[in-house]
Amino acid sequence: MSFFKFKDYIEEGDLVLAFISRGTIKPITVTKGALLNTRYGHYEHDKMIGLKYGEQMGGEKGYGFIHLLHPTPEMWTLSLPHRTQIVYTPDSSYIMQRLGVTSGSRIIEAGTGSASFSHSFARAIGLDGRLFTYEFHEPRYLEAKKELEGHGLVNTHITHRDVCNDGFEIEVPANFGTEVNGDVVFLDLPSPWTAIPHLPKVISKVRQVGICCFSPCIEQVAKTVEALQQNGWTNIEMVEVAGRRWEARKDMVRDIKDVVKRLKDIQSRKNQGIENRRHAKVIGEKRDHSEVLPEPSESSKVQNTGKGFNPFGKGIRIREGDEQFQWRNVTKIETEVKSHTSYLTFAYMLPERVE
Ligand code: SAM
Repeated sequence: MSFFKFKDYIEEGDLVLAFISRGTIKPITVTKGALLNTRYGHYEHDKMIGLKYGEQMGGEKGYGFIHLLHPTPEMWTLSLPHRTQIVYTPDSSYIMQRLGVTSGSRIIEAGTGSASFSHSFARAIGLDGRLFTYEFHEPRYLEAKKELEGHGLVNTHITHRDVCNDGFEIEVPANFGTEVNGDVVFLDLPSPWTAIPHLPKVISKVRQVGICCFSPCIEQVAKTVEALQQNGWTNIEMVEVAGRRWEARKDMVRDIKDVVKRLKDIQSRKNQGIENRRHAKVIGEKRDHSEVLPEPSESSKVQNTGKGFNPFGKGIRIREGDEQFQWRNVTKIETEVKSHTSYLTFAYMLPERVE
């Protein structure tokens, strides 16, 4: 199992994402003898071994089934154990594209939090890149360290540190170069403006460096912009990613004649209902007097042959785009999209300005 490359078949010890439903994806480490219990049945880990990633698996007892997925940073973000608020894919992908994160990039990230973004950074920079991530909350640091190591993110180094007070300088592990020398900075901190003055010591002095500060309040943005300006950062710009999914479909164009037809139809059904009720009532009364009543008049019966189509009411089902009708293209927004609405403040440091 690896976040860097895919493999075909599930083996013991793999991290597998069990896709139970759209809103429930459960990460499991495949362990001999273990069971995954869900409300749709239970699933033996032993039977997962040897299955192909992406395959569907039926439950032991019960009627349900799950899909066994290969981990990716995008899927991990949707299934990880939350220790903090996290950065979701609509934001992380935009930030990485905008800061030009690529294979070999050297990233500085604080705080690590639930390491959601750390996974995306680690994959994007590949085995030639380096991610230096910092977290000051000890239990969270320990959890993240265990997770990053367990997931084989060997290009990532986590440090237990309060970066706002103590900066970013560290003793760099041998295979991470001689110094941090970052060319991309991402700050997801309550007060990024207190960390910004510490950056010149750890960023590249020969390449342009990009920074993104992720803050939920505009007051934080204002303070961050001030600190960026005071510390020589340029091209400062703030954006908000409002990620939405759009559904595109065809909507039938209805004519005024259809409306009139439908209203007549409703009126005629109503009349028929009234007449039927009246008829039933009178029959009830006449039965008592043993008298036979005539049927309701033909004109009051609704003509419903089951053929044709009533665009506003009951009738045969119409396939979207049926050429017998007129259609227009419409779009609808999906209301619930997972994205953390924060402001993203971007800026750049030119090599000659680092000092
Ligand atoms: N970006 C992360 C993710 O996608 O999972 C979430 C980061 S979370 C919102 C912010 C983290 O910053 C918290 O875990 C917090 O403990 C940490 N933090 C806050 N102030 C810090 C500081 N001065 N130094 C290091 N970490 C800090």
